[in-house]
Parts: sequence; structure tokens; C-alpha cells
Amino acid sequence: MKGIAILGSTGSIGVSTLDVVGRHPERFRVVALTAYRNAERLAEQCRRFRPSYAVMVDAASAEELRMLLADMADAPQVLDGAMALSEVAALNDVDYVMAAIVGAAGLMSSLAAARAGKRLLLANKEALVVSGALLMDAARDNGATLLPIDSEHNAIFQCLPPGRADALLAAGVERILLTASGGPFRETAPEGLAAVTPEQAVAHPNWRMGRKISVDSATMMNKGLEIIEACWLFATNPERIQVVVHPQSVIHSMVQYNDGSVLAQLGNPDMRTPIAHALGWPERIDAGVAPLDLIEIARLDFEPPAPERFPCLRLAYRAAGEGGTAPAVLNAANEIAVAAFLDRRIAFTDIARVVEQTMDLLPTVPVDLGGLEHVLGVDAEARRLAEQQSAALAA
Ligand code: NDP
Repeated sequence: MKGIAILGSTGSIGVSTLDVVGRHPERFRVVALTAYRNAERLAEQCRRFRPSYAVMVDAASAEELRMLLADMADAPQVLDGAMALSEVAALNDVDYVMAAIVGAAGLMSSLAAARAGKRLLLANKEALVVSGALLMDAARDNGATLLPIDSEHNAIFQCLPPGRADALLAAGVERILLTASGGPFRETAPEGLAAVTPEQAVAHPNWRMGRKISVDSATMMNKGLEIIEACWLFATNPERIQVVVHPQSVIHSMVQYNDGSVLAQLGNPDMRTPIAHALGWPERIDAGVAPLDLIEIARLDFEPPAPERFPCLRLAYRAAGEGGTAPAVLNAANEIAVAAFLDRRIAFTDIARVVEQTMDLLPTVPVDLGGLEHVLGVDAEARRLAEQQSAALAA
């Protein structure tokens, strides 16, 4: 029986994780669930999964949760504040931590899980983008097992020989072929992009996801963050990663070997597959996902990403190439710009503008491996500048 803490349990990945966990009551016990302020959904999850701890980052929502659970016989201990996320991630009776908080807010708790030597199921790609060196070092130094949840990275992991995820060249890997659906605007004329609405941007053709990552998919910044994520997870560089647009989202990524073989992982676009893979690994467990019907799918298409439509991809390659603090700046500016777009303060095409201007303003320096404070300081400065850029564009 493995104890599990699900950080961000009320979100899209969190809900899918609980769906898989609920299919295997003999394997997993939910120890902690966390949310930001969705007290109602967290209360429902607590009644069904009976965790020992529930964290609401927002204090007023924590109070609401306590009231909602007042009549529950074995109600969880309700904690509040961001520090409580790291506390539950490091609990002794937690074996597995699902890191499914959105954005850089998930950084500290992911790091806490790695430092506590847990099996870290990492959905929060931003943690690797912002502080990849710190997270990978913490995992290695403390014996944590880091398993990727992002469907592409999980696919790559599945296509690599066991135990060789950090030694690609020695394993004969020439290239990673990172697939991308192209999002809702794959065929939209570039001049039409300025007018797209948040509703259109979050309507992903194949995946149902949270709002932020859906916008990132529409700009292809998501693929850019994934390039940086893959560099850390598989100890490689951006030159060895090729983005391939594959609109059906059936192949989740591929690995090309030096003997000409290409291995791919296929499946229906359902995040319960990578979640179940990481929960069960090295065994396979039921995910509740419908079997793939290749006859019904009939064809698989591939094309290159169009640079004029997806400037964010170019910016991500730039950040990956510069290294140091550049990915943290890219990520912070993107979070601010996406929030401004979702608030209808800036246009869709301004997202890339805000990110590029912020990157131009903040020179890249090496990350000071000594401390998280350095990265957090850069993150804060990038957010401040990106807010300024967004405000100027909104005016
Ligand atoms: P959602 O927006 O659906 O959920 C986010 C979760 O994080 C919610 O539980 C939310 O709580 C919580 N949260 C939000 N802000 C904070 C904060 N400041 N502090 C603590 N908790 C917070 O996101 P997704 O599930 O879509 O994505 C989660 C992560 O997984 C992201 O990093 C994303 O890039 C990654 N990912 C997602 C995929 C998907 O299919 N959705 C695929 C691959 C990766 P509340 O509900 O209370 O706001």
C-alpha cells in the first residue's frame, strides 16, 4: 500500500489522478490533497478519499473547507498557506507525490518532495523550467525517483531502455521527436490570431486541460516549455529535440536511435495513461482509458510547426539555448502574459510580445546553484517587468 499526496487535486491532472487511484484501493491510500481555493471540490474529494490532511493555500478558503467538513466523522486536518504544501509533500507516510499545481507556484513543493526522497510524479513542468538544476540535483542527492507525467515526456521515458533516461547517447539515441497537436490555431492565418478570444484559445481540439496550459498549447509555448523540460529530464540539449506537429495526438512522442529505429508510444489522448504508468511503474495498472482503435483513426499526419504562427516556440528555443536564468524569465513572463490575455487585457499575439520584451530587458546570467532565492528573485523581477509590458500594451 503506497501513501500518496496529490498537490493540485482539484485541477485537471489532480482529478484524473484520483480517478486512477480510485480504481486501485488495494494499492494506494490518499494521505493528502491540496488546492488553492476551490473548497467545494476539495470537500467532495475529502469525503470520497478520506485523506489525513487537506491543504487550502488560501486561508479564507481553508476556513470554508473546515465548515464544509464539520460533520465528517474522520475529517482531515485542514492546513493553510503555501508552506503546508511542502510539509505534506515530505510526510513520512507519503511515498508518492503527484505535483500537479499549475505554474511556478508548484516549485517549492516539488522541490520538497525531491528533497524528501519521494517518488515524484511531475506534471508541473514549470518547476523543471524554472529550476531544473536544483530539482534534478535534489532528486539525485536524496534518492527520489522522478517520473514524468507530461504525456510527451512519459512517452519518451517509455521508449527509452530501462535505467538509461539520463544517458541518451550511450543508449544510442540520436534524437527525441517531440510531437505537438498544433492546438486550436494550427490552420488559422497568422493575421487572424490577434482577434482570437480566450474561449477560442482554451478550446483544445484533442485534450481537456486547465486554462493556462490550454493557452500555452494554442501559442505552442507549451511545446517550448516541454523542450526545456526534456533537456533536464533526459540530460540532453535542444539541438537533439525536433518538434513534429501531429494533429491527431495519438503518438505522444518518439525516440530515434542510431540504427535507424524509431520507437513511439501511442494511445488515446487521455492523461490517465501517463498517470497510471507513473503510479504503477515498473508494473502496468488499469487506467480506465478506452483502447486505441487504429482502424477507426485510419491515418496519422505529420508536419513542421509554422514559425510565423508560433513565435513562442522560437523564444523557448532561445531560452533553452541561452540556459542560465533565461528559462525562468521565459516562464514567468509567459505566466503573466497568459493571465493578462485570459483577463482580456491584452491580445493573443501580445503574449509572445510580452515574453520577448521581458527576455530582452533581463540579461541572462548563470543560475546560482547555491540557492533557490536567486531563481525566485529572477522570477519576481521578470513578473514585474512582464506586468509593465502587459499594462503598456493594454493602454
Ligand atoms: P488546473 O488549472 O486544472 O489545476 C491547477 C491546480 O493547482 C488546482 O488544484 C489549483 O487549485 C491549484 N493551484 C492553482 N494555483 C495555485 C497556487 N498558487 N498554489 C497552490 N495551488 C494552486 O491545471 P492542470 O491540472 O491543467 O495542470 C497542472 C500542471 O500539470 C501544470 O503545470 C500543467 O502544465 C501540467 N500538465 C497538465 C496537463 C493536462 O492535461 N491538464 C498535461 C501535462 C502537464 P484550485 O482548483 O483551488 O484553483
